[in-house]
Amino acid sequence: MDRAVAPAKREAALVTGGASGIGRAIVRRLAQDGADVVVVDVDEVGARRAAEEVGGTPVAADVAEPGAWTAIAARLERLDVACLNAGVVTGTPLLADVSDEDYRRVLGVNVDGVVLGVRALAPLLEGGGRIVVTASLAGLTAVPSDPLYAGTKHFLVGFVRSVAPQLAERGIAINAVCPGIVDTPLLGDGRARLEAAGFPLLDPDDVAEAVATALADGGTGQAWTCQPGSVAELYRFRGVPGPRVPGGEGVTPPL
Ligand code: NAD
Repeated sequence: MDRAVAPAKREAALVTGGASGIGRAIVRRLAQDGADVVVVDVDEVGARRAAEEVGGTPVAADVAEPGAWTAIAARLERLDVACLNAGVVTGTPLLADVSDEDYRRVLGVNVDGVVLGVRALAPLLEGGGRIVVTASLAGLTAVPSDPLYAGTKHFLVGFVRSVAPQLAERGIAINAVCPGIVDTPLLGDGRARLEAAGFPLLDPDDVAEAVATALADGGTGQAWTCQPGSVAELYRFRGVPGPRVPGGEGVTPPL
């Protein structure tokens, strides 16, 4: 007797900052790969457009708001993949030019938007879920043109690596994607200067490819770099020095 083959269950995915640039490319890529995608963005119209394009669900929300995450988690029945991607820049190299409001805005979106997202979504992702955080090469190297932005991206890389073991105990993988410079609206006026200099830019689809690689890899606590010509490369961290006193070699803190 022929056995009926149950159709493969579609994955449920969520992408923050999904209305534009890299997030929008991730939304398309996840949908192409067969996922039902929830598009979260503070830009309500953009979220609706991006969701309509893939038959997904738009959610207008500010990822920096704790209450927004409570509401998002409450309306999701299940979740397999979360791409915490929304991010903003200060647009200035000079700390003296950054207003209190701008400082809070950048930390709110780039840092709170990921921490609150991981915390709110983890219960839904338990037992096989995967998180990819859009960090940046600015999280792995110094960026004097926007120190605050670079600081938030360093936070993300350190957070992903450090929170990975406790999430692994709950059956959740978390990884960071660290792109070089991507041709998106985030570049603002800098885009013309980069183009005039002939600087090679990534396409948002390249980053979506890196995200797909990170999702498929099976590892956790890793950072994937993404550059033109090499869109998904596992970053090898150098170890830090341990104690250099007799008997202290190779020990790690018992914490
Ligand atoms: P983008 O400006 O094209 O898109 C960012 C999206 O995030 C927009 O749709 C915006 O409305 C949304 N957003 C902003 N604040 C939000 C909030 N509070 N709540 C919800 N949504 C919010 O920028 P992009 O280049 O696609 O950036 C996406 C991510 O990639 C960011 O985290 C950015 O730091 C990172 N990144 C970008 C580049 C680059 O060169 N473009 C390089 C490395 C990493």
